[in-house]
Amino acid sequence: MNAPKDSINLTSIRQHLHAYPELGLEEVKTATFLSDLLLGWGLEVTHNIAGTGIVASLRRGKSDQTIGLRADMDALPIFESAQHDYTSRHEGCMHACGHDGHMAMLLGAAHAMANDPGFNGNVHFIFQPAEENFGGAKLMIEEGLFDRFPCDYVFALHNMPGIPAGKFASREGTIMASIDVAGIEVLGKGGHGAQPEKTIDPIVIGSQIVTAFQTVVSRNIGQFEPGILTVGSFHSGSASNIIPDTANLEISLRATDPDTRVLMIKRLEELASSIAMGFGGSVKFDWQTGYPVAVNDSKVLEIAMAAAINVFGPDSIEMVKNPWMGSEDFSFMLEKIPGAFLFIGNGDSSPVHTSEYDFNDKVIPFGVKFYQSIADIIFNR
Ligand SMILES: [Zn+2]
Ligand SMILES: [Zn+2]
Repeated sequence: MNAPKDSINLTSIRQHLHAYPELGLEEVKTATFLSDLLLGWGLEVTHNIAGTGIVASLRRGKSDQTIGLRADMDALPIFESAQHDYTSRHEGCMHACGHDGHMAMLLGAAHAMANDPGFNGNVHFIFQPAEENFGGAKLMIEEGLFDRFPCDYVFALHNMPGIPAGKFASREGTIMASIDVAGIEVLGKGGHGAQPEKTIDPIVIGSQIVTAFQTVVSRNIGQFEPGILTVGSFHSGSASNIIPDTANLEISLRATDPDTRVLMIKRLEELASSIAMGFGGSVKFDWQTGYPVAVNDSKVLEIAMAAAINVFGPDSIEMVKNPWMGSEDFSFMLEKIPGAFLFIGNGDSSPVHTSEYDFNDKVIPFGVKFYQSIADIIFNR
C-alpha cells in the first residue's frame, strides 16, 4: 500500500483505507499507510503499541496541556455487498463500522494542526487496533500508552447512521454500556430417557437457570438502572430418548452503571450455582470480561460541546436522553483519563455492521474541524 500522491485528499485516503481493510490486531498495512503519511507531515510516530497501534505526536509552543485524540483501525469479517470503486479488495473483510472514516478524520486533524504555523499545543494522535473484539484500547494501555504519552484529556468520535451528517450527539455520564459474556456449562448425569430417576438432567437444570435469570433485571437492579441479560445460546442433547450429561449456555450482560455490572455478574453466578446444586448438578463458568461502562467526564464533554458549537453553531450537537446499550473499548481510556466520546452523524446510511454500510465522506471535514476546535479551546484559552 502506498500513500496516495495527493496526501491531503481525505476522501481518497478514506476510500483507500476502505479498499484494504484488515481485521483486529492484523492492521499491519493500515499502520504502515498511516505512519507514512504522518511521518511525511512531520509528526513523531511511535509504532508497535499493542502490535499494530501507533501514536503520532505533535508538540509545539509552550502549552503544558496535552490531549489524546483516538481513532480505531480495525475492520469486520463481513462480505461487502455494495459496489464502489473502492469496494473491499479483501474478500470477507470490510470496514463495516466506519473505522476507515474515523482514521481519515484523525489524519485530517493531524495534517491540519501540523501544517498550521501558529499551532501551539501538544497532541497525541492515537490510532488504536482491534476495537471490535479484542479490546485494543486495553492492550495499548497495558503497554504503557498513557505512561509513555501522558494526556490531560482524551476524545474520540464514532459515526452513527441515522443522525444527520456532521451533527454531533452525546450525553453526560454514561454514553455506552458495559458488555460481559458468560459461558455456563451445566454438569449433570446422563442416562436412558426411560429412566430419568437415575439421571441428573442438565436440560431441566439449564431451563430453570434461564427462567431464574429473568429476575436479575426485574428483581435485582433498580427500576431506573438499565441492564440487559440475554441468553443467546442454549445447546444440549442429541436425541429424544437420551438424557445428556451436559448443557451449554451463552449469556451477554450489559449495564450502564459499574455497580449494576458487578451486581448482575454476582446474581448470575449465584443463581446458576445454587439452582444446579439444588438439582444435584453443578456449573462451570467461562467468563470473557468485556468492555467497561463508557463514562464521559462532564467538564471534558463541555469542552467538546463548545468545540462543536464554536464551529458549527448551537444546533450542531444534541444531548441524548439515554445511553447507547452497545459497547466501545474507548471506555478503558475513559477509566484512565478524563475524556469525552461523541457520535458524529453519518446521515441516512445503512446501519453499521451490515454489508451495505459505507462511511459518508461528507462527514470527514466536520470531524477534522471538530478536533481542531477542541485543540483551539484547550491550548488557546
Ligand atoms: Zn463496530
Ligand atoms: Zn465501531
